[in-house]
Amino acid sequence: FQIKLPENEPVKGYLPGSPEKAALKAELVRQLANPVEIPIIIGGKEIRTENKAKMICPHDHQKVLGEYHVAGEKELLMAIEAAEAAKEEWENMPWEHRATIFLKAADLLTGKYRAKLAAACMLGQSKNPYQAEIDAICELADFLRFNTYYVQEIYKQQPANSNGVWNRVEYRALDGFVAAITPFNFTAIGGNLASAPAMAGNTVLWKPSTTSVLSNYYVMQIFMEAGLPAGVINFVPCRGVDFGKVVVSHPKMAGFHFTGSTGVFNGIWNQVGGNIEKYVTYPRLVGETGGKDFIFAHESADIEALTCAIVLGSFEYQGQKCSAASRAYIPESLWGELKGRLENEIKKIKMGNVCDFTNLMNAVIDQKSFKNIQTYLDYTKESSDAEIIIGGGCDDSVGYFVEPTVILAKTPTFKTMVEEIFGPVMTIYVYPNDKFEATLIDCDTATIYGLTGAIFAQDRSAVIKMTKALDHAAGNFYINDKPTGAVVGQQPFGGSRGSGTNDKAGSAINLYRWMSQRTIKETL
Ligand code: GLU
Repeated sequence: FQIKLPENEPVKGYLPGSPEKAALKAELVRQLANPVEIPIIIGGKEIRTENKAKMICPHDHQKVLGEYHVAGEKELLMAIEAAEAAKEEWENMPWEHRATIFLKAADLLTGKYRAKLAAACMLGQSKNPYQAEIDAICELADFLRFNTYYVQEIYKQQPANSNGVWNRVEYRALDGFVAAITPFNFTAIGGNLASAPAMAGNTVLWKPSTTSVLSNYYVMQIFMEAGLPAGVINFVPCRGVDFGKVVVSHPKMAGFHFTGSTGVFNGIWNQVGGNIEKYVTYPRLVGETGGKDFIFAHESADIEALTCAIVLGSFEYQGQKCSAASRAYIPESLWGELKGRLENEIKKIKMGNVCDFTNLMNAVIDQKSFKNIQTYLDYTKESSDAEIIIGGGCDDSVGYFVEPTVILAKTPTFKTMVEEIFGPVMTIYVYPNDKFEATLIDCDTATIYGLTGAIFAQDRSAVIKMTKALDHAAGNFYINDKPTGAVVGQQPFGGSRGSGTNDKAGSAINLYRWMSQRTIKETL
């Protein structure tokens, strides 16, 4: 049994007349006509509670996709018990068998469940077909395939021996269960955060975001159909406070796998710190959190590439990627032409219902997010330090729509230049050409984050200078490309500072975090 270095799952185009387009269209109609009821899954069993919540389409908030059962304290305790009960057999299962389950899940989701999963992601999380395809299908399959390969390679690493001494390392699972809290914006992240610790022999409690339960549940079903034993991953949609109280404080929580806001992750660290004496082992805390991702152009930048990066990097998926560009530093000498190009390109963007495949943009995830973005736009309208130069309109009468918006800021510290908004809002600061170096320092120090960033320059010495000056400003650093769209196996993803622990998703570094080594020295 030897897993070869995988290839990335090819992205399908959903072009007119293609079979995948027909299948996806039919599946969208089917899911819209058939609301579903989603149970909690604990120990392989479906659990239903009195407490249910609705799932709606963000692009049309009157459309109900179904309901899901909400786990309370009782169910969360049951899930911990189920995870503990499943642990020994799972951890001791030969690695080849564990690996086979995840490889089979990748084949199921790229095969017979491709349309179902993509449609659920489109309707529930408001993605266009391309965004759903690169996320729920390709990226998730890549996570599953590459991670099994990385685990295999880690397990092969053994220490040296000396005369009469046989040394070896066992890569055991952690001493307890792993808790995973996952975000709405990538179905792939949900699947990865739950499965990566499980690959290494851990059992998991998976709390999906309340706004991505539909697609996350289908991922859970695929894991089970692929042969995942009962209790290895327990699917527990619930309120954050209950999860915090019951799961995060539990003495057997040995690992925590998170993607979400910096504030929530900070809260978890505080809670873990406050409980530290209670745990059996120090919990491993792995998180990818917020971002305020930059585009920094030098006067030698290629203006066409720069325009394209600002438009796609800021507005694809409505700016709701942690990696989305949301602040740009542009030299005065390029601004006149760039402004005209941005106006032209942004005018062409179509926004609306996900079932119309010609829409590049769809809705933002929910009312809370819509209101939060609106508050930033209102603040800007009233400020004398910035102005909205493109877009700025919001309309939630049918769905939660926010126009692609460009703000021009007079200072590099204007509120929308430094705070994460998580919507289709790009703030631009135009700097005098002779202030290039000082502006690099502004870019490096303006925010608490360090997730992604992109620089644009054709002059090699400028590339070198920018790369050095922005050393820790981005864990994923792009030269002459947009800062979104990291591909598993090619650009391991994650950042440091206020953006997380930088245990790159889709890399061996992440998988090591779910393993606890025992070093054995045997004297012969
Ligand atoms: N990996 C994604 C990208 O490179 C972003 C992940 C996230 O939003 O957390 O665009």
